[in-house]
Amino acid sequence: QPLAELPHIRRLDKAVVNRIAAGEVIQRPASALKEMLENSLDAGATHIVVTCKVGGKALLQIQDNGHGIRREDLSILAERHTTSKLRAFEDLEGIATLGFRGEALASISYVAHLTVTTMTAGSVHGWRATYRDGVMEAGCPKPTAANQGTLISVEDLFWNVPLRKKALKGATEEYNQILDVMARYAVYKAGVSMSCKRQGEARSDLHTLPGASRLDNIRAVFGAAVSKHVVPFELARGSGAAGGAADELHCEVEGYISTADYEGKKTQLVLFINGRSVECTPLKRALEASYAAVLPKACKPFLFLEVRLPGSHVDVNMHPTKKEVGFLHQEDLIEAVRTAVEEKLLASCGNNSKRTFAQT
Ligand code: ADP
Ligand code: MG
Repeated sequence: QPLAELPHIRRLDKAVVNRIAAGEVIQRPASALKEMLENSLDAGATHIVVTCKVGGKALLQIQDNGHGIRREDLSILAERHTTSKLRAFEDLEGIATLGFRGEALASISYVAHLTVTTMTAGSVHGWRATYRDGVMEAGCPKPTAANQGTLISVEDLFWNVPLRKKALKGATEEYNQILDVMARYAVYKAGVSMSCKRQGEARSDLHTLPGASRLDNIRAVFGAAVSKHVVPFELARGSGAAGGAADELHCEVEGYISTADYEGKKTQLVLFINGRSVECTPLKRALEASYAAVLPKACKPFLFLEVRLPGSHVDVNMHPTKKEVGFLHQEDLIEAVRTAVEEKLLASCGNNSKRTFAQT
């Protein structure tokens, strides 16, 4: 090819770069909601209300009673890589907050209309600001009446990314994914009251009470059909064979798992590793296999598991949406959890077990 025809390498526009990056963090209304819900929890909120229009595609709004945002921080709030949570790279190890990259609000501002209203404790009024492409719009922030905490509205998600917008599912499907994110955190963060509803509807589709227990919230969000058939599960260090393994791995697990009489339609694994809602397909498969041995064919289990590992064993920065985390000794850990779940399951079904296991 003649040199003259060779394409030149050019620097992309900053706005183009950011819009591309935004699409990695924000894939659909539920991923925007997850980021904002995590922000509210990081802000210490005990009461969180979510309102959606057209499955969160037209409007996604979240109100919390957390610590709010300082007026002077509002101007850089939606810039990329601005955060109140991380300072040095080393701090990532064992970070206690759910956020740390300062990318969520920035990303949202590149692909939607973002409005933030916030008031810190002791202020007489709040501030409202709108953002576009990482920048606070002229004339903002404006003083406004507000409650303590933060109200964030995301309107017309992907209005400027037509392909993405078209790829979204219908309102019901997108809304169900939002409810799924909320359901997971509602159980894990039991005690914090959360609700989610469609705009204009009087009734919430998800609602938990302040001070509720995890079991209360399993009932409230997954239904009594689930909560009636779960038992507490614990993998403590040093007890039994699985406990020994847990000891070596420095891991602890607690939660609720369904018993053999629960007949779910699909496997539901609500998994938190060091406080983060994550997915782990190999663990899910292993647990499914354990249950398959005792459950009737088409029945699937429900499991809520909270795994705690040393911060230095977990890489939280593995996935753009933080959907997956990396952790050390993955295979051993899965094996330890699987063994313990199987023990518990067998103990809970007593003599009714449909099959006997190898150890007998
Ligand atoms: P990160 O959570 O990674 O820091 P975000 O883009 O999600 O990045 O948020 C940027 C910053 O905005 C946060 O560090 C926090 O200081 C502030 N913030 C966002 N949402 C809230 C909220 N609901 N309440 C209080 N502060 C918030
Ligand atoms: Mg965040």
